Amino acid sequence: MYPTGPCCILDGMTDLTGKHAFITGGGTGIGLAIARSLADAGARVTIAGRRPEALDHDGLHPAVMDVTDEDSVAGAIDAAVAARGPVAICVANAGIAEGRSLHRTDTAFWRRMMATNLDGAFLTIRESLRSMHGLDWGRVIAVSSIAGLRGLKGAPAYTASKHGMIGLVRALSEDYIGTGLTFNALCPGYVRTAIVDRNVVSIRDRAGVDEDAAMRLMTDANRHRRLIEPPEVAAAALWLCGSQSGSINGQTIEISGGQT
Ligand code: NDP
Repeated sequence: MYPTGPCCILDGMTDLTGKHAFITGGGTGIGLAIARSLADAGARVTIAGRRPEALDHDGLHPAVMDVTDEDSVAGAIDAAVAARGPVAICVANAGIAEGRSLHRTDTAFWRRMMATNLDGAFLTIRESLRSMHGLDWGRVIAVSSIAGLRGLKGAPAYTASKHGMIGLVRALSEDYIGTGLTFNALCPGYVRTAIVDRNVVSIRDRAGVDEDAAMRLMTDANRHRRLIEPPEVAAAALWLCGSQSGSINGQTIEISGGQT
């Protein structure tokens, strides 16, 4: 039932006290910004990734795992659930990004992209859902991309993997209707993280332009002509966890300055 009363409309606060949030790729960039904002709202936050040294952040609980490895995902989520309770908020954020035209896309590259971005989201969400059954409130958020909403030139594998993540949450939003669990995707444009730093180098090398020009190609793709900051993406994730957002289900939220 929709919460009524002026405090529900006006409080503007999201209270996640005691809720366990599990965030893949939570040690860096967008995932870390989401982790911090959910922790600030009171959640107990597990951040997962392959490199232990990237998971050392005050107040956040590390889980070393590889999203491409089924046993690793299941083991890390089981351990986190044992320590902090059922996953109430699952953020499938771990990902890799690299533009390669189709003729440069060998099978190994295609599979690596799918294994990380799409299989990784599938395994993370499936294993988290095992602990979410029985909860009457839950949030599943996939960090897709603007490339999940439109074709990204020169990046067919990345584009396909990010489209796939949106298909996954849309299907689950149908399957779990009426349970209190919602499934949505965030679709950022270019965000100031290590991925953009790596892109600058790869555009520089491929297009033969200097790094300033390579960076301009990305900032200009965002319609407001600046990079997006990770906390701007985190704000959308936090909003999806808010008491007023339970009717938002199976949706994509574009955070790109209006690219599409
Ligand atoms: P980062 O490189 O900072 O984050 C990627 C995270 O994913 C890292 O923490 C990395 O940790 C983790 N990761 C990668 N591969 C694996 C793996 N096999 N198993 C477990 N964890 C893994 O970049 P962003 O914060 O930008 O990226 C986060 C998400 O946002 C990605 O899905 C990306 O596609 C998406 N995105 C980013 C945009 C941008 O412009 N920055 C735009 C649109 C979407 P570790 O290496 O330690 O495993």
